[in-house]
Amino acid sequence: MQETIRKKFNELFQSEGSVYASPGRINLIGEHTDYNGGFVFPGAIDKGMIAEIKLNGTDKVRAYSVDLEDYAEFGLNEEDAPEASWARYIFGVCREIIKRGGKTGGFDTVFAGDVPLGAGMSSSAALESTYAYALNDLFSLGIDKFELAKIGQSTEHNYCEVKCGIMDQFASVFGKAGSLMRLDCRSLEYEYYPFKPVGYKLVLLDSVVKHELASSAYNKRRESCENAAAAIRKNHPEVEFLRDATMEMLNEVKDDISEEDYMRAEYVIEEIQRVLDVCDALQKGDYETVGQKMYETHHGMSKLYEVSCEELDFLNDIAKKCGVTGSRVMGGGFGGCTINLVKEDKYDAFVAEAFSAYKEKFGREPKLYEVVISDGARKLC
Ligand code: ADP
Ligand code: MG
Repeated sequence: MQETIRKKFNELFQSEGSVYASPGRINLIGEHTDYNGGFVFPGAIDKGMIAEIKLNGTDKVRAYSVDLEDYAEFGLNEEDAPEASWARYIFGVCREIIKRGGKTGGFDTVFAGDVPLGAGMSSSAALESTYAYALNDLFSLGIDKFELAKIGQSTEHNYCEVKCGIMDQFASVFGKAGSLMRLDCRSLEYEYYPFKPVGYKLVLLDSVVKHELASSAYNKRRESCENAAAAIRKNHPEVEFLRDATMEMLNEVKDDISEEDYMRAEYVIEEIQRVLDVCDALQKGDYETVGQKMYETHHGMSKLYEVSCEELDFLNDIAKKCGVTGSRVMGGGFGGCTINLVKEDKYDAFVAEAFSAYKEKFGREPKLYEVVISDGARKLC
């Protein structure tokens, strides 16, 4: 990939620039916990974006996307926003840096990536953090890493119409090979935990479906969580989010809230605890417990939070049947991938069975992505 980028850069700009990279991410456990003030547990992966960049001394950016075979040229003022959506990510990063008082200028760039688009591994965060990290370095801006992540997040909010949380950009910037990161979504404190599953593979199976329900269902889930937290707060004023609640507290208000709100809150309270349990297990190198918690998450997402779907439940059942250590739907739900922790000796049989059974049932094959937990944003050369 780097070779292709270098060749194209030379062809377009007759020179050579510096090369930066930034990864996509997975989330091992902790789903729908972010807006409840809880924990998420992401890690950067060995798939990401690579960009060659050279300052050009003008106030214009000239950018080429290898994967989309598209070229864009734009200035750095608010009214210069480019049309192409991929270019808006780069433009947005520049604008967010400028808004924070960073002195930037024009540059030439060529980039490419291998994070599958829209599969739940956050190719957009990989793109944003590549440029946030690179521009900070090239213009010697001295922006700290957390602010780089926020620059990516604000780019999505203000230039790409995606109201995302901070997890994706955080993981892409802070990632470390062989480590997952527990991020407290309320305080933004974080901690690294070892993730070196020797003898296991981490593999994503993409159901290749995306159901329409996703955004309205998401809003309804958030509402249920707020209802439950508000009911609990009457007895326990210290409960700001469900993160602060226990199952005992929830049971006190069981008759005051709907059955649906109760189920949603139960899932969230248990899921936040599962993240903590997985952290303990990882410190002991106990991957069997990690896997068991992943199955519990899937069950909760399917039966209590009701954000799974037939395809994802099917893939989860196959995993169980094939003796996969852990498996669950990853991301918000209603489509996308399952994430699977698989013993190496069970891997081939699992993949073969998943492909053939899924095809037989749904008429198409899932996609497979093996991932390794890797480093975050960095300069390559
Ligand atoms: P994801 O869940 O993968 O982040 P998004 O829809 O948030 O999916 O972001 C995908 C968008 O990011 C694409 O539409 C494109 O604009 C940009 N993008 C991602 N990867 C690439 C790439 N390799 N080349 C060009 N643009 C990309
Ligand atoms: Mg995205």
